[in-house]
Amino acid sequence: MANDTLSGLDSQTLAHVFEHIDMAVVIATLERKVVFMNAAARTLFRYSNEEIYNQSTAQLYADEEDFVRLGQERFNTNAADTKEPYVVRYINAAGESFQGQTSGGLIKNSQDKPLFFVAIIQDDSARLAAEEVLNRLHSITSSRQLTYSERIQAILELGTSHFGLPIGIFSKISGEQYVIQQVVHPEDTLKPGMTFELGGTYCSLVYQANDVQGFSHVSESQIATHPCFENFGLEAYLGAPVFVDGERYGTLNFSSICPTRAFIRQDIEILRLLAEWVGHDVAREQDFKALETAHDQMEVLANTDSLTGLASRSCIEQALRDQVTFALKYSKELTVAIMDFDHFKSVNDRFGHHVGDEVLAHFGDLVSLMGRKGDFYGRWGGEEFIALFPDTKVAGVLIALNRLMDSLRQSDLSKQYHGLTLTLSIGVTEMLSSDNAETIVQRADQLLYQAKAQGRDQIQHD
Ligand code: GH3
Ligand code: MG
Ligand code: MG
Repeated sequence: MANDTLSGLDSQTLAHVFEHIDMAVVIATLERKVVFMNAAARTLFRYSNEEIYNQSTAQLYADEEDFVRLGQERFNTNAADTKEPYVVRYINAAGESFQGQTSGGLIKNSQDKPLFFVAIIQDDSARLAAEEVLNRLHSITSSRQLTYSERIQAILELGTSHFGLPIGIFSKISGEQYVIQQVVHPEDTLKPGMTFELGGTYCSLVYQANDVQGFSHVSESQIATHPCFENFGLEAYLGAPVFVDGERYGTLNFSSICPTRAFIRQDIEILRLLAEWVGHDVAREQDFKALETAHDQMEVLANTDSLTGLASRSCIEQALRDQVTFALKYSKELTVAIMDFDHFKSVNDRFGHHVGDEVLAHFGDLVSLMGRKGDFYGRWGGEEFIALFPDTKVAGVLIALNRLMDSLRQSDLSKQYHGLTLTLSIGVTEMLSSDNAETIVQRADQLLYQAKAQGRDQIQHD
């Protein structure tokens, strides 16, 4: 190392001061020739002292223009006395470029005599790359345009590009089964749904450790005999468990058939974050599905009478309107029946309200069993029911309803409760071209009233 090029300061002193500090320190003469690099700078730029000594600092810049520009702005003897840090792209001896956050400039002695230039450099690439990943992850996870599987796919793509590992998999693990849910693969040879033995994948190691595992060069590691290496030849692997609502669900993993650079703590933190987001997304999707199912169930509940299992009043009213509209539009037949139990008050009075309920439930079962597909039965209220028979004349309906009345009369309930007789009075009417939903029901009601008046247990029709 030179000791004569820096007037007033010998290099031994510099080495003593700077050699062991964490940040990379480069000192150059006023001609911008390197006279000193501390240990951190030699590691960062991958030069030995001999290689770099007395070389122009231009060699350290990725772009010549930056060397020239910084010579004008900062590294000249007339430069303003600013020491504001700046970011510039450097290049190391291996030809790899990186972003360096840099501070420093001209150093003068107490008589204002320029002595040398100093640059203190921090490799910023990892921090900037991490910032970039976080920004992209944020835009993926907050996007309303993307569907669930598009978001997972985008996270897989983000991971493959950030880690430099071309294969990305989101897996579901059930027992010993490893099932690919979504995948990014350069040759598209892996597909969702493909299943493997967990033990044959590196993910088994993630499950054993219950934490992130990374191997950058498997064939030279202690897991070189792992079946995954023997079967698939994957040299590099980085995988994390995915948790969904606190339960272990599967893994997010990235791999390559080529060895890669060693993984750093930041890689592990980033993978953990990606896996966390995948877990959130799965949970969100599951919640959404559950909500949909609940909604469907609610709809069924709202449309079904809970005692009889038949259509509820509002549901059968809607069906009636639809059927009337359809029959009018296409000049089809539509027959409507209104049925009411005879002396139901006395059923309740003699046997108890719960037996009355049992009778109504039994009626629902009978109808479900005997009713023709395409006919609609609904609970009109209390112990009164309505039935719609599309494309059917009165004669056909009478056959069906007589059978229903017979079954009811002979039901097991009459044997179970001694003296219980179950009969219906029914009004049946065919739709006219002048009808609407209200007029047709009114006419059926009048016919039902007639059936009651004429002694019950009968059908009146027009
Ligand atoms: P009618 O032959 O004239 O129809 O005589 P009814 O006693 O059946 O008279 P109506 O149809 O007017 O009376 C209905 C009775 O049915 C009144 C009510 O106590 C009973 N009821 C209505 N809904 C239910 C129900 O959900 N469960 C039970 N157990 N009874 C009901
Ligand atoms: Mg009644
Ligand atoms: Mg009634």
